[in-house]
Amino acid sequence: MLSTDLANRQPVVPAGLDSALMQQLWQAARAAHAKAYAPYSRYAVGAAMLDEHGVIHSGCNVENAAYPQGWCAETSALSALVMSGARRVRGVLVVGTGGAWITPCGGCRQKLREFCDPDSSIVSANLDAIGPVHSMEQLLPHSFGPEHLKDV
Ligand SMILES: [Zn+2]
Repeated sequence: MLSTDLANRQPVVPAGLDSALMQQLWQAARAAHAKAYAPYSRYAVGAAMLDEHGVIHSGCNVENAAYPQGWCAETSALSALVMSGARRVRGVLVVGTGGAWITPCGGCRQKLREFCDPDSSIVSANLDAIGPVHSMEQLLPHSFGPEHLKDV
C-alpha cells in the first residue's frame, strides 16, 4: 500500500462493546488492579480483555526492583489470553490509578496490535468510572503487523 493510500484512509471507529460487556470488563480489570504489584511507582494497573470466544482474561502490572524488568497489566492479560488458546482480542479495558485516563503504553499498543482488529475497542477507566474509548488504529496508526510478514 502506498503512503498516500494510508493518508487518505478514514479513521477507524471503535467497535461497540455493549454496556453489559463493558461492565464485566470493568469488574475484571478492577479486580486485577487490586492485585497489582507496584511498590515502586504505586501506580497500580488492571487490564481485562475479551477474546474471540467471549471469554474475559485479566492481568495486572508487576514491577521489579530492577525497574526495566517489570511489565504492564496489558502484557499480563495478553499472556493469560494466549495461554487459554485464544488468539484474538475483541476489546480491552484498562483501569489506572487516579484521575487522568490511562491508555496502553507504546510497547503494549504494539503487543495488542498483534491480536486486535483495527476497530477493536480500547477503553480507558479508573476505579470510579469508565472513560474514553479508542480504536486500536487510533492508538497506533499506520502500524506494523503480521500481514507485513505474509509475503516475505
Ligand atoms: Zn505497557
